[in-house]
Amino acid sequence: MKRIYLDHAATTKTRKEAVEAMLPYFTECYANPSAVYSFAGEAKRGVDESREAIAGILGAKPEEIYFTGGGTESDNWALIAAADAYGNKGKHIITTKIEHHAILHTCAYLEKKGFEVTYLDVDDLGLVDPAELEKAVRPDTILISVMFANNEIGTIEPIKEIGAIAKKHGVLFHTDAVQAFAHVPIDVDEMNIDMLSASGHKFYGPNGVGFLYIRKGVKIRSYIHGGAQERKRRAGTLNTPGIVGMGTAARLAASEMEQEGKRQCELRDYLIDRVLKEIPHARLNGDFKRRLPNNASFCFRFIEGESMLINLDLAGICASSGSACTSGSLDPSHVLLAIGLPHEIAHGSLRITIGDETTKEDLDYVVDKLVKIVENLRAMSPLYEDFMKKNGKK
Ligand code: PLP
Repeated sequence: MKRIYLDHAATTKTRKEAVEAMLPYFTECYANPSAVYSFAGEAKRGVDESREAIAGILGAKPEEIYFTGGGTESDNWALIAAADAYGNKGKHIITTKIEHHAILHTCAYLEKKGFEVTYLDVDDLGLVDPAELEKAVRPDTILISVMFANNEIGTIEPIKEIGAIAKKHGVLFHTDAVQAFAHVPIDVDEMNIDMLSASGHKFYGPNGVGFLYIRKGVKIRSYIHGGAQERKRRAGTLNTPGIVGMGTAARLAASEMEQEGKRQCELRDYLIDRVLKEIPHARLNGDFKRRLPNNASFCFRFIEGESMLINLDLAGICASSGSACTSGSLDPSHVLLAIGLPHEIAHGSLRITIGDETTKEDLDYVVDKLVKIVENLRAMSPLYEDFMKKNGKK
């Protein structure tokens, strides 16, 4: 059966060029890049080139890039190590209610360790208000962590304004850019970003490898203890093939960003337009303009997100729902609740994230199927029947 993969925010296929670049590092240049003999030189070169490529994309220096095991590790490291290094200066952290759990659960851990965390509200589009953020800054605030773009609703935050506020108050600024890096332009100097998390598998690199950018001068110390790799800040033998694959994917994504971003924005807007026109009682979640090129997030009233996903799966379509259904919980997504949606609407969410192979024909197929799926599910919904009766439609 035809399969249409539209869950690129969850993970992407590792692109062919990245796989090809990785292969020799498994079987030919497999030496430990930290070794002194010349055979290690090729592995070291591969790692260095990736570091340089990633630094170049961010406007950073190569020695400010630290390779990690992915976005979750980078987020944990940034927050826990900042709390550790600056905890004697103050114990207050500012973040938002719509962060990924890699940030929210790390904040909860730090609260148990005696830190106080302010979770900023967002507006109905998912945007943080920089003025509200500035009001939350206190003399004991040591860290602000605001995601670059939200993984569920795609909203891009006003990172430059937030960075300026952090700088003005002398507070460290971390951003979780896992969904944004290599998809939208980022400049760490222009945006006053002190730390930035990213993950290879979100931009057609391999899984289980990521990085943390740490601005020179920031006092972050080691979080994973052991050997002296990564300038003694992140121990563990480097994942050379993974790092080379991620660097290759980042380099290619950066060179294609403008063109591919434009193509994806056009497809995304086409999809949004068709869905909102053809499916009654549908809403777009997040900002229409300030959103990731690949993200379209909807809520359909009188529908259970999970039933929609199962029906889409039967039609060969891989998409995702905002609700935490995979964890067996019936709680709707914390992001959708934070933008003010009532539970019953948040339950009917659908996230479609397009990718480099997505075509207009794919999206036409999806919308055609979706119109029928929503119609069928509503025909079985007592809530919808009540609504129609109340509105004199039946
Ligand atoms: N932060 C955000 C915004 C994400 O979307 C994700 C993954 O979906 C993560 C962090 C975690 O990244 P990883 O899967 O590489 O650990």
